[in-house]
Amino acid sequence: MIIILLGAPGAGKGTQSEILQERLNMMHVSSGDLLREHRKRGTELGKVAESYMTRGDLVPDDLVIAMIVERLAAPDVEHGIILDGFPRTGPQAAALDEALDTKGRRVNAALYINVEHDVLVNRLSGRLTCRLAGHIYHEVFAPPRVPGICDIDGAELYQRDDDKRETAAKRLEVYFEQTRPVIEYYRERGSLCEVNGDQSVEKVAQDLVDCLR
Ligand code: AMP
Repeated sequence: MIIILLGAPGAGKGTQSEILQERLNMMHVSSGDLLREHRKRGTELGKVAESYMTRGDLVPDDLVIAMIVERLAAPDVEHGIILDGFPRTGPQAAALDEALDTKGRRVNAALYINVEHDVLVNRLSGRLTCRLAGHIYHEVFAPPRVPGICDIDGAELYQRDDDKRETAAKRLEVYFEQTRPVIEYYRERGSLCEVNGDQSVEKVAQDLVDCLR
């Protein structure tokens, strides 16, 4: 089973991926996490990606596609995968279909978490991320039990550079211009299921699981 999670930055893709990964026993692959790893390790890709990411722009298609195709070839995703943050452009969606087709696989469902623009701005500007495993909190809507510390693994929480107000606004602009067409791509293929993302985390998760039934 190959599931794609679609939605703007701040829509809850990361949080919901973690829940779905556990409930469905599938591998969660986030293109943003993979790129942040490359930056941390200082790889060639990480160095090139850095300037795009800090501006809030998309990393060029050919680089991201190559990274994801390589990840899809690993044995741990054979049984199922939740793709989060990819595809983000029409060419990425087409490249994914092509890569899967050569293996006799296809996207089974594209789950779209829909959240309004104003809500997204508020969510992104207060978002806190766990430095160790990427667990997500919010200063106001989902604070950790101890300020600055992840409830799950005790790691430090930080604000991602690209969650700062100006870059976050730019990322939303990029999303509405370049990524929204991807939603139409899957709608036309009949694999899109839309969920209202402005509900409790638990209710959104339930609606997503219902989509898969
Ligand atoms: P995310 O963690 O999904 O919000 O991604 C953080 C940043 O990584 C984005 O703002 C982009 O700069 C880059 N990125 C992640 N996924 C992609 C993608 N599929 N295509 C291009 N750039 C991406």
